[in-house]
Amino acid sequence: MSIKPISCLPDFTIKSYRELIAALVQSNYQFTLVRNLANDTLKPDLISSAHRVIYLRHDIDFYLNGVDQISRLEADLGVVATYYVLLTEQYNPLHPTNIKIIREMVSQGHEIGLHYDLTLYPTDLSAANEQLAWEADTLSRITKRPVTTIVTHQPFRGLPDPFRSQDHYVHPHDPRYQANLTYISDSARSWRDENLLKCFTDSPPQRLLLNTHPEFWLGHDVQNRWVYSEEVMYPNITAISEKSLRDQQVVWQNHIATQLHDAREVK
Ligand SMILES: [Zn+2]
Repeated sequence: MSIKPISCLPDFTIKSYRELIAALVQSNYQFTLVRNLANDTLKPDLISSAHRVIYLRHDIDFYLNGVDQISRLEADLGVVATYYVLLTEQYNPLHPTNIKIIREMVSQGHEIGLHYDLTLYPTDLSAANEQLAWEADTLSRITKRPVTTIVTHQPFRGLPDPFRSQDHYVHPHDPRYQANLTYISDSARSWRDENLLKCFTDSPPQRLLLNTHPEFWLGHDVQNRWVYSEEVMYPNITAISEKSLRDQQVVWQNHIATQLHDAREVK
């Protein structure tokens, strides 16, 4: 299959996502895990050479349902990514359906990091550290791997972030790792500029931290973000809850209490 360089920003479909990743591979970008940012920064040769590296990162803000389509696609193209999972959003990473998806990602070579929400953290530093350690430990029990990297959820809120620069976890926005590092994100299912296209020019960014939200790319052709949020995101957000309710309805139908109750009403 011949792969075309990208000449305009990708629309938000799985097909376009595959084309984007394939085109980046074709452009000699090497994909590596975010946790390697710390060691790579210590290699001046890497930072100054023509070597091109992508730290592919995904923040899971809304749901895991269907996100395995993206992790599988990446594995098929031979690339790895770091998926940051929240323990405190409405989706439950401890639900068996979500555990299965997370462990499949790990088996594909991807890494799971902790996405933490500072609005839910105490301001006292030692209490905050304790909460972070508790979340990281819980996540590591799901992944059966140690948590080596963390990243802030919704940094635009501007809360003081005590975890951004420390030695225990690699944080991709740690000021110590920013040398020659370009950051591009698909926040709010939007491209704020056209910097992504520079990857396909004669002077591409050498180190790229590319953050995409897999939940934004799962519709086949819905580009309008409001329609997408209603038609694709909402059903994915409620998928596990709906299945749980349907299962419970079957239990009710067959429950002895239901039969006894209804039999009395018939009399
Ligand atoms: Zn987030």
